[in-house]
Amino acid sequence: MARIADLLARGRTFSFEFFPPKTDYAQLTLGRTIAELESLAPSFVSVTYGAGGSTRARTHAVVEWVRKETHITPMAHLTCTAHSRAEIDEILANYTAAGVENILALGGDPPVGGAEPGPSDYSYALDLVEHIAGSDGFSVGVAAHPEVHPRSTDRANDRRHLAEKLRRADFAITQFFFEADHYFRMLDELSALGVDKPVIPGIMPVTNKNQVRRMAELSGAAFPKWLAERIGDSTDEAEVAKIGIEVATELCSALLAGGAPGLHFFTMNRSTATRDIYERLGLPVS
Ligand code: FAD
Repeated sequence: MARIADLLARGRTFSFEFFPPKTDYAQLTLGRTIAELESLAPSFVSVTYGAGGSTRARTHAVVEWVRKETHITPMAHLTCTAHSRAEIDEILANYTAAGVENILALGGDPPVGGAEPGPSDYSYALDLVEHIAGSDGFSVGVAAHPEVHPRSTDRANDRRHLAEKLRRADFAITQFFFEADHYFRMLDELSALGVDKPVIPGIMPVTNKNQVRRMAELSGAAFPKWLAERIGDSTDEAEVAKIGIEVATELCSALLAGGAPGLHFFTMNRSTATRDIYERLGLPVS
């Protein structure tokens, strides 16, 4: 197993993101997906966390399973929302005991349509990063939003807060986006603030247009007109997925050609799109 900071220091990383399944059926699907993606030899995989601790046990279970049952390095997501420092210490101690060395420290989103989250000892992800950086051994990543976080008052403040967070963390992973310029512009803005830590672009292949439109609205990422036009009126899921994979492959090629330190795929717990993009990029698939 490895610290992601060390992996990035050695070269490009290719990584996959999963969410903790809610049902036995979804759990079996995720098990199969991880088995199918293991042959791509990912640098690491990450597992999301329900803000407010709603998936606390399930996130831990998937991360620990990956750590013990596969050869892949896992990273656990962790959010500030509704957590005390004592709870975070307990969660970190459990990950240390399980041999997990990587945490993605996040602000967290309030549950959609759910109850108001309880009080938190942290205001922003930076507070969590500082807490975790104080405990030995973890490599810490943070979130970055190429198109600016939807709650940011303006672009300059967004970049200032991101730069502050990245100075304390080892790396960032971005929210998904569809145009490489958003990513490279953000890197230039960070560089102007004196921050050159690795920022791994997050890739979301469009496999179902309604779902991605909904997620784009929530995350603040624009669903560009040219992409909507390329998909057109097609309601054929297979046709939409084919276009989505072509578009994602073009984006990945542009990002790699421009020097991105890796690619992080939001897999939605399925392997097909990621495997397809890997093959089209000429990355090794066994
Ligand atoms: P923060 O860094 O706290 O930023 C949130 C907002 O506060 C920004 O607008 C920022 O500019 C502003 N801000 C920061 N510091 C200050 C300050 N000192 N004063 C004023 N404003 C400030 N969510 C989940 O719930 N679970 C997950 O597992 C999860 N995984 C994710 C994985 C990736 C790769 C990404 C990109 C996002 C993920 N998210 C997840 C979503 C994330 O939690 C949300 O985008 C959340 O709204 C913000 O998180 P953040 O870490 O950027 O927060």
